[in-house]
Amino acid sequence: MTGNEYGFDTLAIHAGQDPDPRTGAVVPPIYQTSTYAQDAVGAPRLGYEYSRSGNPTRDALQECLAAIEGGRRGLAFASGLAAEDTLLRTVCRPGDHVVIPDDAYGGTFRLFSKVAEKWGVDWTAVPLGDLDAVRAAFRPGHTRLIWAETPTNPLLNIADVAALAALAHEYDAMLAVDNTFASPYLQQPISFGADVVIHSTTKYLGGHSDVVGGALITADEGLGQELAFHQNAMGAVNGPFDAWLTLRGIKTLGVRMDRHCDNAERVVAYLETHAKVGQVLYPGLESHPGHETAAKQMSRFGGMVSFRAKGGRDQAIEICNRTKLFVLAESLGGVESLIEHPGQMTHLSAAGSPLEVPADLVRLSVGIETVDDLLADLEQALG
Ligand SMILES: *Cc1c(COP(=O)(O)O)cnc(C)c1O
Repeated sequence: MTGNEYGFDTLAIHAGQDPDPRTGAVVPPIYQTSTYAQDAVGAPRLGYEYSRSGNPTRDALQECLAAIEGGRRGLAFASGLAAEDTLLRTVCRPGDHVVIPDDAYGGTFRLFSKVAEKWGVDWTAVPLGDLDAVRAAFRPGHTRLIWAETPTNPLLNIADVAALAALAHEYDAMLAVDNTFASPYLQQPISFGADVVIHSTTKYLGGHSDVVGGALITADEGLGQELAFHQNAMGAVNGPFDAWLTLRGIKTLGVRMDRHCDNAERVVAYLETHAKVGQVLYPGLESHPGHETAAKQMSRFGGMVSFRAKGGRDQAIEICNRTKLFVLAESLGGVESLIEHPGQMTHLSAAGSPLEVPADLVRLSVGIETVDDLLADLEQALG
């Protein structure tokens, strides 16, 4: 099944998920097995030998991921960071260099600054919205990768995927796009020239805050094969039950994202008029510096909203402590609304670095509850 034949929601529900040939089961079974009987030495029945190398439930997820991102090859990992690590160590060698966003997800920044750096892979953090800054950071012959996130976590900055792809390719480098915040329903980076898409499937793809996972989707078969080799050789694979939960989540991605967007738009409109709220960060706002680019590459603007508390850090923390429906928790992209203080929570690992986030920032993952209940909760929390 490819994106050319079917619409997004059809692919989300069917790609990689033909009824089970043996039983007719409509839903791909959870093949909770580590190994597979072979008919003779060197003759595995359907090519499956060992579940690190291959598992039918994971294969179903991988095929679905490739279809919904419009890519050639999908690979599912134990977590988003496991996917990132596998990508990094497939594409980069000691002496290589990567351009990363100056407001990358905290865990991504930690992977570069505390892990990759020790292995001799250097990085430069720049605002990816500034193409001159990206170009200036390039070290021709050494820069292998532009690593983009758009929208970014938690500042919701926007990078122009097509422009970054053109720039990367000019220098024989690749563009990797972390598409976790938008999800493929709202944005498909490969269609704008990205070479590989990264996901924390823990977030919108899984969608129910009940599973941790990651994914890589490649535009071409060559990089797909190299990554598949490393997926097995490095071993950070997605387990069968996790793959099954993620597949189940993906089936409703489209309807969930529409509701996430509807609710986020209402929350943004409410926050914009509140006396105690400073700047509201949402790419759907015309005042957002990345709005035009976002409108070009996203169909809608997502369920993530950040805002700055006029009363500073203490008020931001107080708001986070006072919501009742918005659960105070890290992570995002589930059906339930979450609130957090990035400076003290998700982005604590970036404190003191160029990626430090403002102390008065509050991040909302707007869920799909009844929106009036969400607005009432924010009203009481803002006091
Ligand atoms: C959560 C997240 C990750 C890391 O994924 P895990 O599944 O937690 O390992 C990477 N990028 C973004 C944008 C994220 O939100």
